[in-house]
Amino acid sequence: MHKGSCLCGAIRFEIETDPVAVSNCHCIMCQKQHGAAFATYARFRRCEVHYLAGVDTLAVYQSSADVQRKFCGRCGSNIEWGYSSGEYAIWVAMAVGLLDTEFKPENVKELHQDTQVCWWRSHAEIT
Ligand SMILES: [Zn+2]
Ligand SMILES: [Zn+2]
Repeated sequence: MHKGSCLCGAIRFEIETDPVAVSNCHCIMCQKQHGAAFATYARFRRCEVHYLAGVDTLAVYQSSADVQRKFCGRCGSNIEWGYSSGEYAIWVAMAVGLLDTEFKPENVKELHQDTQVCWWRSHAEIT
């Protein structure tokens, strides 16, 4: 069981299971949406994610024809993205930075490294 919330606390959710995959997405859309070098998302079955509060505060941006990105309409926290139709609509990717419970994924994939920015590692790590 994992629990998460947005910055202002209006949106709270819990997730019944561990994710099937965790990834750092370096695509341009994730960079823009998060205002950051990359977005870290964990993928779950949509039926295993339950909103406890704030569903009416979720704002939706249709970033592609069949992809919706949802965020808190009050504080702007990025919450989830997923397909609104088709076979992948059973999945939802939740922003890992929202989790309030301990989360230690065994493996984190790096996606879209072709658009990875050069400034996301600290100088200490660049030798
Ligand atoms: Zn919020
Ligand atoms: Zn992305």
